[in-house]
Amino acid sequence: MIASTRRSFVKGLVASTSVLILGFDPVRRSWVTSALADTPTISIPHLDGVLITDPATLATFADDFGHVIHHTPIAVLQPGSVDDVVRAVRFCLEHRIQVAARGQGHSTGGQSQVQGGLVIDSSTLNAIEHIGSNSVQVQAGIRWIDLIAKTIPLGLTPPVLTGFTGLSVGGTLSMGGIGAASFKFGAQVDNVIELEVVTGEGLLVTCSKTELPLLYNAILGGVGQYAIVVRATLPLVSVGANARSYVINYTDAPTFFSDMNKLTTAGIIDGVYALIVPNPAGGWVYQINANKYFGTTPPDDSTVLAGLAFPPPALTAATYDTYTFDTLVDQQIAFLGSLGLNALPHVWGDVFVPGSSTSSFVQSTLATLGPADLGPEGFILLFPIRNAFSEELAFRLPREENVFLFDILSSGLPTDTAYVPTELAKARALFDGSRALGGTLYPIGSIPLTMSKADWVREYGVVYPALKIAKDLFDPARILTPGPGIF
Ligand SMILES: Cc1cc2nc3c(=O)[nH]c(=O)nc-3n(C[C@H](O)[C@H](O)[C@H](O)COP(=O)(O)OP(=O)(O)OC[C@H]3O[C@@H](n4cnc5c(N)ncnc54)[C@H](O)[C@@H]3O)c2cc1C
Repeated sequence: MIASTRRSFVKGLVASTSVLILGFDPVRRSWVTSALADTPTISIPHLDGVLITDPATLATFADDFGHVIHHTPIAVLQPGSVDDVVRAVRFCLEHRIQVAARGQGHSTGGQSQVQGGLVIDSSTLNAIEHIGSNSVQVQAGIRWIDLIAKTIPLGLTPPVLTGFTGLSVGGTLSMGGIGAASFKFGAQVDNVIELEVVTGEGLLVTCSKTELPLLYNAILGGVGQYAIVVRATLPLVSVGANARSYVINYTDAPTFFSDMNKLTTAGIIDGVYALIVPNPAGGWVYQINANKYFGTTPPDDSTVLAGLAFPPPALTAATYDTYTFDTLVDQQIAFLGSLGLNALPHVWGDVFVPGSSTSSFVQSTLATLGPADLGPEGFILLFPIRNAFSEELAFRLPREENVFLFDILSSGLPTDTAYVPTELAKARALFDGSRALGGTLYPIGSIPLTMSKADWVREYGVVYPALKIAKDLFDPARILTPGPGIF
């Protein structure tokens, strides 16, 4: 908080969509749109972008895909340049205004929100700055879907795409980034070459595995605690122009897990994850979604699926061009949105489970759930992940070579006042249950809402002291990303 009680306005020339912002009132913690002639003033730095304060915009940025938590900022910056982020963070540091970077706001527990602070809406920093033969440099606000629209025609792709690609690069690198190729390549945070970031002290620095590695390894999966990512250099790998997709339904959990294991170890497929939905006949349908990319000659289905136990009628195979295939989930989410379902409250529980315990943990968890627990727009997902055992500090996976992301993604009706507390308690129980088996938190969802600072210390365990050093070094005033309440 500002110590001074003297009424002072920060005066500047900041364009808003509807008004001209003339200053910041540090006592009232609000931006002012008219200046008082006798008021001491401090200049706001020049901005290439816009600072927005109208109530409708503030309400939009006081929300996320969860629609459960609402922290209203005092302003939203849509930066016109990387320099704007530097200027804004320095300004906020000076005036002790908290800052949250926001990608697409698709976390569900207020992670990208900040009460009475500044949201930096990175969606305007969305340029692809350079595409090479094996890497790409992007501004961090770009969505993965917009990046692959440019790389796939060149026969190139980032090694791991999230299942839903309408997420920002900066947002998923701040969380982990899990997709169908994670069984082979790990998380998106395992597939980064270099980051350019603005620290909590307003310093623009480059970091990588070899340059400022403490900062780099804290940022990846670090939920925006140490710096704002403004640029990322990412590897690109070859990808065929087409994809063969295999959707296989199981009602028998042991057969499903056995076939999932065969697919991930056979070394043929390029991607796999599972969707678990209620079986109208009772129990659950476990749906494997696997794929193999190809150029002109489709793969031989019987070779790809060799050794699996599924009965033939349970298989649907189809061919798509690669961009369409990679964005199928986006189409499904857009369809749900057209039905109004994305606007429902969502309480999401997301945990990483050691591979050796996944089958029993998933089955015992599902035994306690029914269709009503998922609500009108509910899914359960399982992503197999190869643990790259990288140097990341903040991105915590169970210490086994093969692990699974287990997501229970529920929704409720806004009129159901019991929905949020009931499902939050279940999400917390999911976390505690997985922890008891050596599991860890994927902080994208709602479980962070149930966590105390002591829970975070326990979650980070042996790496907490290193993360605390990173926080003390790079955001000593604790202005960055207060949403998850980690520090
Ligand atoms: C429909 C849907 C599908 C999803 N599918 C997947 C999936 O397949 N795989 C997966 O792994 N996850 C998935 N997620 C979860 C998603 O990865 C997280 O919600 C992630 O946070 C989304 O990125 P975002 O751009 O919306 O980030 P936001 O939610 O806006 O931000 C997330 C966190 O990162 C911080 N942050 C954002 N940008 C930056 C930046 N540039 N620098 C520093 N910190 C930053 C924010 O402050 C916040 O703490 C899905 C979510 C939804 C709603």
